[in-house]
Amino acid sequence: MAIWTGHVTGTLRGMLRGILRNIAQLRNVLISSMPFCTQCGNAVTALDQFCWRCGARQPGSFVPPPGPDPLAGVTPRTAAVLSYVPGIGWIACIIWLASDRFRHDRTVRFHAFQGLYLFVAWLMNSWVVHPLCTVATPHMEIDKLIHLALIIAAVFMMIKAAHDQAYSLPLFGELAARSVAES
Ligand SMILES: [Zn+2]
Repeated sequence: MAIWTGHVTGTLRGMLRGILRNIAQLRNVLISSMPFCTQCGNAVTALDQFCWRCGARQPGSFVPPPGPDPLAGVTPRTAAVLSYVPGIGWIACIIWLASDRFRHDRTVRFHAFQGLYLFVAWLMNSWVVHPLCTVATPHMEIDKLIHLALIIAAVFMMIKAAHDQAYSLPLFGELAARSVAES
């Protein structure tokens, strides 16, 4: 039994020594492949743009190129039409209003604001008018008429935008124009 235990312990000790030797070799390889600062000789990695000790820029450092504008391919007309797509146009509106690309494009911003206000009206209709109608006037269905009117207005604006016309809807257009002027 004692011989058994001694044998196992000896084997484990040998394995451990082997692992430690491998780690030491790996460390030497890593250190020797590390570049050094051109200014002070401090060890830097290939990903370091600057030496962390003296701050000198490293000539071999990897500098990521500036990324292309993801909205570069979106024309103002496409942006305007997308602002009115029922159900999802509001997402496009927020993207246009937040983007650098359309920061100074008053026409796109007008369409984006008008699309957003149409979406807000749709939300109000779904959350406020619809529950009220269900309780108060179950046979009149005013909410459905408003919903239909909003869809027609959105499709109408998609057609106008596709023809490069910044048509101003009653109420919504005035709100949008004011928002463009204030933003
Ligand atoms: Zn340095």
